[in-house]
Formats: sequence, structure tokens, C-alpha cells
Amino acid sequence: MTKRPLHPEDFGENPWDPLPELPGHSSLGRLERVLRRGEFAVTAELNPPDSADAEDVYKRAAVFEGWVDAINATDGSGANCHMSSVAICALLTRAGFAPVMQISCRDYNRIAIQGNVLGAAALGVANLLCLTGDGVQSGDHPEAKPVFDLDSTSLLDTIRTMRDDRRFLSGRKITAPPRVFIGAAENPFAPPYDFRPLRLAKKIAAGAQFIQTQYCFDVALLARFMARARDLGLTEKCFILVGVGPLASAKTARWMRTHVAGVHIPDDIIARLEGAKDQKAEGKRICVDIIQQVREIAGVSGIHVMAYRQEEYVAEMVEDSGVLKGRQPWRRDLKAPGIDLAKRLHDNLVASHEAPV
Ligand SMILES: Cc1cc2nc3c(=O)[nH]c(=O)nc-3n(C[C@H](O)[C@H](O)[C@H](O)COP(=O)(O)OP(=O)(O)OC[C@H]3O[C@@H](n4cnc5c(N)ncnc54)[C@H](O)[C@@H]3O)c2cc1C
Repeated sequence: MTKRPLHPEDFGENPWDPLPELPGHSSLGRLERVLRRGEFAVTAELNPPDSADAEDVYKRAAVFEGWVDAINATDGSGANCHMSSVAICALLTRAGFAPVMQISCRDYNRIAIQGNVLGAAALGVANLLCLTGDGVQSGDHPEAKPVFDLDSTSLLDTIRTMRDDRRFLSGRKITAPPRVFIGAAENPFAPPYDFRPLRLAKKIAAGAQFIQTQYCFDVALLARFMARARDLGLTEKCFILVGVGPLASAKTARWMRTHVAGVHIPDDIIARLEGAKDQKAEGKRICVDIIQQVREIAGVSGIHVMAYRQEEYVAEMVEDSGVLKGRQPWRRDLKAPGIDLAKRLHDNLVASHEAPV
């Protein structure tokens, strides 16, 4: 693969150095830099471990190295308990990765959230994703007390106030504001479809600078949403990264569309999986096809890969889709050829899955 030379501003003298400040940027992070430069960005979701071992985080992040511009740390996704997003992000920044810290309003009130935002920014977290969050009834602790003191929109407004007005919601002054790039989620695939672009407009008005969407398995629905977003001028105000991911089998697809709220998988996708000899390989091909179609829709600024329990295939799918166009996202060992590194990691992972227990 021919690699375009790295941009000098991608890195400091060594890859752990803070990036120089750029005019018009809200953060010192790599994700904002890539998007504002007009590159097609790639982010990926890290499956948080059910463990207190930092190595479990680093192993999971390593498969993305050299292939993604930022790594999302989910926050009690599905209302299930895992290692916290703030801790995962702190570990990732220590190693030089660019994390997106997800914040779900389900588990914390405004006092806890504002404290976490300052703490995360102090630890080098440059990107935040503001979510209302899944309800407690969908997770493994349905008896937990839901908080929802804020929702995604008021959370966006809160963080923007902290950053731009340098004050807490109480009005008290913040001496060093969090330099963060603020994002939110959107779901173009859940009815009422006409409401979704308006909801996006509200989130942008509240401070969203980037959006990561729910899984896209229906490109026609996405195209309709994007057309309306363009008409409303929203793609000029916000970077939209479309959620994609491989389906492991037709059975998984059926399970997801029944049990995961907001996930829409059309029948033709399930039929394509069912008709395949190797359903897993077909799931990856479908994902690559969707990435390539999504890439062509005006106003789409990137993809967000959610490859739950198939993270080792992200590098391969990004490579096959060609969306990076030879661009090399950050990795620790700048001299290592990206494709070899990814192949090595992939081979290691496959070997570890196949190892007898
Ligand atoms: C990329 C991505 C990452 C996610 N990560 C996490 C995570 O880490 N942790 C987690 O708990 N959940 C996560 N979720 C799930 C998400 O929080 C839920 O799906 C949520 O219901 C919708 O997203 P939101 O949080 O931005 O909610 P919002 O957009 O704030 O909406 C909350 C719910 O209320 C509905 N709603 C809001 N306002 C109105 C209105 N005026 N009229 C009608 N309906 C309305 C929305 O349609 C939605 O169902 C993620 C979702 C996505 C797409």
C-alpha cells in the first residue's frame, strides 16, 4: 500500500507530546485535526473489559493502532457494568491513543459529570460524546436507580458552557477550562424519520461539533437523513461519522434487531448473510460495501466502527474499504509498516482465540 507522508502537525517531536494549538480548534486532539483538515475520519469502539487490569485495555486498543483516528470508550453501554469510560480514556492517553470519552446521563448527576469532564481533560482526553444513555431496564442491573439529571442535549450545553464560558452550571468560575471537542449520537434509522434531522439540529445548537450515528445497515435511509441534514445546513456546522459494523451471522443479525434498541437491519441484509457459505466473511464484506457507499454521500465526514467482539477485523475492513486513501493514522511505532502490524495483531488474536483453554 502506498502511504501518503505523515502530516508534520500529526505528531510532536515524539508521539506522546501534546499537539500544537491550531486557530479555530476547540481541542488539542487528533480527531478534530483530521476532520477539520477535510480527511475522511475513522473511529472505533473499544469493548470495555470486565476487569481491573490495564493490560486488557491496551490489548484491545492495540488492534486499532495505525487504523483509526480515535478510540471510543463506551459508558455502561446497554446499561451493563464494565470498566469506566473515564478510566479507559486515562489509560489510553497514557499510551498516546486519542480517546473519545462517552458520557451517559443515566449514572451520574451534574455534579459528578462536570467533575469528570475536568478530570478527563486534565488527563489529556480531548473528545467527549454526550449521551442520554440506555435505560437501566435494558441492562444486567435493572434494579439500579437511574439518574438522568441531564439528558444528551443539556449535557452538550453544560460542557460547552464549561469550555467556552469557563463556568460550571452553578455559575462558579473554572480557572482552566476543558479543551474538548464535543460530540453526540444520532439515529437516522429509527422512526419518526422526519424528526431525526430536527433532533440533530437541536444537538448542534446545544454544542455538538461531531456526531457518531447508530449502526447503518440501510444506506437509503441514511441518504434520506443526510439530504435533509444538508438542506438544513447541518453538515456545514457539524462532522457526521456514520456507525458501521460487521454482523457475525444471520442469527446475530436477527438477535440484534430484536433485542438492541434503535438497531434497524433490513431483511435483504439478513438474506445475504443466510445465503453465504461463510457468514462471518460475508458480514465483513457487507460492512465494507456499506462503508464504500456511505463514503460517497455528501456531508459524511467519516465512519465509526462498532465491531463488537470482532475488533480484530477493523484494520482489515478499513484497509479493504480504501477510505483512508493511503493515509496513516497515528500509531506508537511510527517506523512499523501499518499493514504488517495489523496482520501480526490479527494473526495473534486469531491464534489466541483458537488456543485450547
Ligand atoms: C454511537 C452510539 C454510542 C452509544 N453509547 C452508549 C453508551 O456508551 N452508554 C449507553 O448507555 N448508551 C449508549 N448508546 C445508546 C444511546 O444512549 C441510546 O440509544 C439512546 O436512547 C439514544 O441516544 P442518546 O443517548 O443520544 O439519546 P437522545 O438523543 O438524547 O434521546 C433519548 C431518547 O429519547 C427520545 N427522544 C428524545 N427527545 C425526544 C422528543 N422530543 N420526542 C420524541 N422522542 C425523543 C430519543 O428518540 C431517544 O429514544 C449509544 C448509542 C450510539 C448511537
